[in-house]
Amino acid sequence: MDHQFINSLIARLKENGVTLVAVSKTKPISSIEEIYNLGVRDFGENRVQELVEKYDQMADDIRWHMIGALQRNKVKYIAPFVTLIHSVNTLALLETIQKEALKNDRIIDILLQIKIATEEAKQGFNKEDLSTALENIAVECYPNINIRGFMGMATFTDNMEQVAQEFKALQAIAQNAADNYPKLDLAIRSFGMSGDFDVAIAHGANMVRIGSLIFGARNYN
Ligand SMILES: *Cc1c(COP(=O)(O)O)cnc(C)c1O
Repeated sequence: MDHQFINSLIARLKENGVTLVAVSKTKPISSIEEIYNLGVRDFGENRVQELVEKYDQMADDIRWHMIGALQRNKVKYIAPFVTLIHSVNTLALLETIQKEALKNDRIIDILLQIKIATEEAKQGFNKEDLSTALENIAVECYPNINIRGFMGMATFTDNMEQVAQEFKALQAIAQNAADNYPKLDLAIRSFGMSGDFDVAIAHGANMVRIGSLIFGARNYN
């Protein structure tokens, strides 16, 4: 890993008030420690088992982010310690997080994932379910859940014009929700990954999830 490059990335994001979540999925503890030693404390994983294993092995002051598709029956494993769940994409999942947060006597911070990318594989709330979720949250259906904002992904493409349009659309949906629910704290915009975070920041992202640019390409064998 190129420490000089990573340090300048960290500094640049900090200057712009953007929170870096270092996405360590598939990467060993030794690599996470290397980045930890550069001062990074926010790490993201997309699989529950891997997240729990790494949480058990790493320093207590790490803030662990769940960024991937989350099955309801696995919420219980991360509920005791997770800092922020980015990938909340159904009403049923909200119910489960509420239940598990209560069991752990915690208030769990979450983001609602908005679907905008044209790829079928990308998950998230459509507009209608997003409205229902926000309404439920506003009337305090989930006392052990603290909504902090929104997560979104652009289509994986080299067409940066399309990516910019998608981040613009995400930001518009998020801003509209924030305007409609001034009493909720909806400030976080987790938009952008290694290939598109500059575009995301230009369109309102204040949290980025960066993996391969920091840790190098992933090997899924
Ligand atoms: C893997 C992943 C990332 C990071 O991807 P990179 O392109 O390696 O930066 C960001 N967000 C989610 C949801 C991911 O699964």
